[in-house]
Amino acid sequence: MNDERVATPAHAKLGASNCERWSVCGGSTYLIPYAPAELPNIYAAEGTVAHALAADAVNLAMAGLSPEFPISVKQEGFDIPVTQEMRDAINVYVDQIMEISEQYDLSYKNVYVEQKISIPDIDGDDTTLFGTADCGIVVPFNCIYVLDFKYGAGVPVSAIDNKQLKYYLLGFYLSLPESVRAEIPELIGMIVQPRIPTGEVMTQESYTPEQIEEFHQWLVASAAEVTMNASLVPGDHCRWCRAQPICPAVKNYAQQQLEIDFIDAVEVIEQKQLPVPTEITPEHLGVLLNNVEIMHKYLDSLMNYGYSCLQNGIKIPGWKLVDKRSNRKWKDELEVVKHFKEKGCSDVAIYKTPALKSPNEMEKLLGKARVPAELWEKPDNGQTMARDNDTRPGVEPRAITDFEGIEL
Ligand code: SF4
Repeated sequence: MNDERVATPAHAKLGASNCERWSVCGGSTYLIPYAPAELPNIYAAEGTVAHALAADAVNLAMAGLSPEFPISVKQEGFDIPVTQEMRDAINVYVDQIMEISEQYDLSYKNVYVEQKISIPDIDGDDTTLFGTADCGIVVPFNCIYVLDFKYGAGVPVSAIDNKQLKYYLLGFYLSLPESVRAEIPELIGMIVQPRIPTGEVMTQESYTPEQIEEFHQWLVASAAEVTMNASLVPGDHCRWCRAQPICPAVKNYAQQQLEIDFIDAVEVIEQKQLPVPTEITPEHLGVLLNNVEIMHKYLDSLMNYGYSCLQNGIKIPGWKLVDKRSNRKWKDELEVVKHFKEKGCSDVAIYKTPALKSPNEMEKLLGKARVPAELWEKPDNGQTMARDNDTRPGVEPRAITDFEGIEL
């Protein structure tokens, strides 16, 4: 691919939410404008809806009110149902904010929802470095909190050394008058990810003003290095990069890792030249596994790009567009209830049995101390593989590994 870059504004937009990417791969900022347009994605639309409802719910809670959630919300062409799972996730986030607010006896004036922040770059331009924090809480003479609500369930995000959170904390910190800043000894970044299947729903990390100032120096210096000549540097951050389908660096990286020439991929796969798992040494396996996520993402981006080609009328041999499978759903639940009741059906017949909330949710009713441990258990869901830096402790294997049945 021709790596020539088009002229772009002297000051690229270097947002907080993608700081992990542009601070490592400066070239991505200049490659992304060439990437195929992002297609509407139901997961992104769900996230947008959850965030908007969560912001409203925080504002209402600070005014002493409870939200009335709609049944569904139209977003980017999707009809997103506001499920119990979404409502529960929002409540976990709102409860966390209210807990902090009650702890310090704060009013709505101290709680900033969907707050825009900006930081002057090396030239003093404050349109380059910017972001919108889900929630910032300024506790006078005490601390600043920034809470980031993650609705996604697939990839756990930790607050530990999280650049996005530090970026928001810095933005809040700089927005305060110097005299107020001098009275703030602590800044706390918090991730609330209620739907995460394993690991912690809430993680946090505290910083001193000196540590945030150090981050400030790093941020401004990193931003200054994002120029049109900046390199394309692949890594974990590629997962969220829109330029993946056209990125020569990530293609080379993937190619090197699996030792496959993608141009000859069909031939290679037909010849079964992919390494057989049982013949790979543990050392080589470690290298391959370290790159599994990037390979997944690369293959996803191939699928997405193929879909966008088909949508644009470009033929791809062996592939076609089809309608997605869908299940019937009620148009208007009130009308449905009325209809079935008129036909003599009882509530028991038409409603599902109510389900108990989880131990985590029930603890909110009585407090942790009043929910005896004899009432709950943690089912053994088996073991899984995680990276060394996962916060869970490593455990001994429970069963002898059976290599039989591994085929390629
Ligand atoms: S895919 Fe990765 S290497 Fe390529 S531009 Fe994006 S972040 Fe950089």
